[in-house]
Amino acid sequence: MKIYEIFGRDAHSMTFSLMEAADVASRIPENAAIVLKPNLVLDSSPENGATTHAGVLSGCLEYLLSHGFQNVCISESSWVGANTDRSFRACGYDRVCEKYNVPFYDLKKESSELVDTPFRPMSISSRILSADYLIDLPVLKGHCQTNMTCALKNLKGCLPDQEKRRFHSDGLMKPIAALASVVKPNLIIVDSLCGDLNFEEGGNPVETNRMFLGFDAVQIDAYGCQLMGLPLEEVPYISLAESWGAGSSAFSPDDIIRLNDPEDGNVYPNPSGLVKQLTRNVHADRACSACFAALVRALYQMKDAGVSVDREIFIGQGWRGKAVPGFGCGNCCRSALHTVDGCPPSSTAVIDALKSLR
Ligand code: SF4
Repeated sequence: MKIYEIFGRDAHSMTFSLMEAADVASRIPENAAIVLKPNLVLDSSPENGATTHAGVLSGCLEYLLSHGFQNVCISESSWVGANTDRSFRACGYDRVCEKYNVPFYDLKKESSELVDTPFRPMSISSRILSADYLIDLPVLKGHCQTNMTCALKNLKGCLPDQEKRRFHSDGLMKPIAALASVVKPNLIIVDSLCGDLNFEEGGNPVETNRMFLGFDAVQIDAYGCQLMGLPLEEVPYISLAESWGAGSSAFSPDDIIRLNDPEDGNVYPNPSGLVKQLTRNVHADRACSACFAALVRALYQMKDAGVSVDREIFIGQGWRGKAVPGFGCGNCCRSALHTVDGCPPSSTAVIDALKSLR
């Protein structure tokens, strides 16, 4: 499969150009019900490096509407603990929906269906399952638990919150791969304009000024890994998804079709490894994203304030009921020697609790 790539800063025109170059319209069935699935993980402006730029949505909609496709909607659910409506406004999607007269559906409020997968049955949004043409609009960025997130992991927003929690108790890798084997986006357009290369919640965006388009989510993630300098083994769900029939990770330099050239050569900055370094004493076992992110945010803030944390920290559902000899983060770790309550705890509570031990 070919991957189309473009460089620049204008998400709207870049998205439109990518779709034109790939002749996307010729692949969409007439009168298809088209669903756009961005990354609205939390209420944070895309400039912070976590969420899909509104221009990707508007460029995509302009292309689809100008080619006569009318049955289009945007659907997403933010992560557990975040309000999707708030994320929708923070990212400027309200203005896009109004301008193009396209509905937005918060999948947290909608029905889901139990679907068999190679791992276990899972509950998936009915709207996503009934789409004729699913367009995945992820951000290429780092992730504090899976190292990177792009096309495959973005599909987690197609789940009700209860299923999202189960993903974490199942260790993330297998459920992400299994979901990708039953929800296969027809088209993927990656926002790699300024993703945070270490942390899915953003905060340290890195300008990479690039977008790319493809038709195979596994291949797109493999390409994203190559850009970030990550061996595929560091993101195990990609190969697992491939083995379960979600797509193929193979691509060669001839498969990359460039629509223009980058301004500053072709250097993609590697992740700094800051999150890995900050979490070197963290023992995570089936930790929810929001919980782990609150801890990482706390460690970031303490580092910025010049406070080092050398304590052993335990986090996640796997530590429930275990009397671990360190600091337990969140209600699951209430049996630890020292703890902070919350499900998830706020980063402020984590900082206060860690500081009180000094
Ligand atoms: S305490 Fe944290 S890891 Fe445990 S269930 Fe709550 S959010 Fe998840």
